[in-house]
Amino acid sequence: MATLNRLATADDRAAQRGEHILAADQVGKLIELLVRRGYEVVGPTVRDGAIVYDHLESPDDLPRGWTDEQKPGHYRLHRRDDEALFGYVVGPQSWKKYTHPAEVRLWAAERQNGTFRILNNEEKGQHPRAFLGARACELAAIAVQDRVLLEDKYRDPVYDRRRGGAFIIAVQCTQAAETCFCASMGTGPQVSDEFDLALTELLDSKGHRFLLAAASDRGTEILSELKTVPATEEDRQQAAAKVDAAARQQVRSIDTTGIKELLYENFEHRRWDDVAGRCLTCANCTMVCPTCFCTSVEDVSDISGDHAERWRRWDSCFTQNFSYIHGGSVRTSAKARYRQWMTHKLASWIDQFGSSGCVGCGRCITWCPVGIDITEEVRAIREGGRNGDS
Ligand code: SF4
Ligand code: SF4
Repeated sequence: MATLNRLATADDRAAQRGEHILAADQVGKLIELLVRRGYEVVGPTVRDGAIVYDHLESPDDLPRGWTDEQKPGHYRLHRRDDEALFGYVVGPQSWKKYTHPAEVRLWAAERQNGTFRILNNEEKGQHPRAFLGARACELAAIAVQDRVLLEDKYRDPVYDRRRGGAFIIAVQCTQAAETCFCASMGTGPQVSDEFDLALTELLDSKGHRFLLAAASDRGTEILSELKTVPATEEDRQQAAAKVDAAARQQVRSIDTTGIKELLYENFEHRRWDDVAGRCLTCANCTMVCPTCFCTSVEDVSDISGDHAERWRRWDSCFTQNFSYIHGGSVRTSAKARYRQWMTHKLASWIDQFGSSGCVGCGRCITWCPVGIDITEEVRAIREGGRNGDS
């Protein structure tokens, strides 16, 4: 009896926190409720051999029964032996696709009656989006970009507009890829409370279902319209065990102890030459990184000179032009560019924005064509002694 009382109390607490069980066949209803509130629902879907983020009409668009295999320079999709909707880790895209898009037309202008008229600025009046399937490391990445693009000295209006109304449905990781190291960066796999709703997928003899939690008023409102039952202590423990297992599965890590000083003191470490011998300066790592934010601005006009546009495009510290200043590039070698990228991510980012620029998602490892591994590079610098002299 005493045990039953204890369980009942824990279950009540779970219900108060908004933890419920949602049957898998109710995910369609969740999408429907979001659409009815004016959101465009975007999330994971299979395209061109990868799981990418795109518009979702229904649960049929989700990667049901698919999983991803990731290693340095390697990504493959495989069929699972179950019908999991979120049984993969992360793909090449991140939510910056929507909040900080690769290309934005900042303005266009047309010559009319001897003067230029501004036609329009970046798209206005688009639907707010609901991000379905954001992982813990991705929430951490969004928080990093919030600090850079909203909370620093300059507020980016494009990011502000796109980020402002976003409704976030987090999905806890219940498996890790070989390239994940969020546990060592303190960014996952457990989601923080920076979400509206959070799902943990459970699939066993008791059926296909989700532990569902709400962390905002609008999340609680949606939850109240879904057909759910209060989660039991057993459900919660099962979900927590799955997330713990994803942390334990991680084979990569970065020791972040004194990492800023480590990198600042090893500017001339011989490992930079070693990695430069492998790096193609292709910029893939910066394109897939959910926190990288650098852009360049390009003005274009038509041949008549009557129509002009200003575009903002993702740029990368791996291109030579990126550091072009008055007649020349500051970082002409692959060594200088790789060192700049990694030192900024893991050291000077802390001075600039108060946190690491890396959330441990592993994308730069998976999508590097030659499999350069940031965790291995940090380890080599740490173990090599000052400037690699030992
Ligand atoms: S540096 Fe690599 S592991 Fe870190 S957040 Fe960027 S892509 Fe992910
Ligand atoms: S580290 Fe890899 S992905 Fe990044 S620029 Fe070099 S070769 Fe390309």
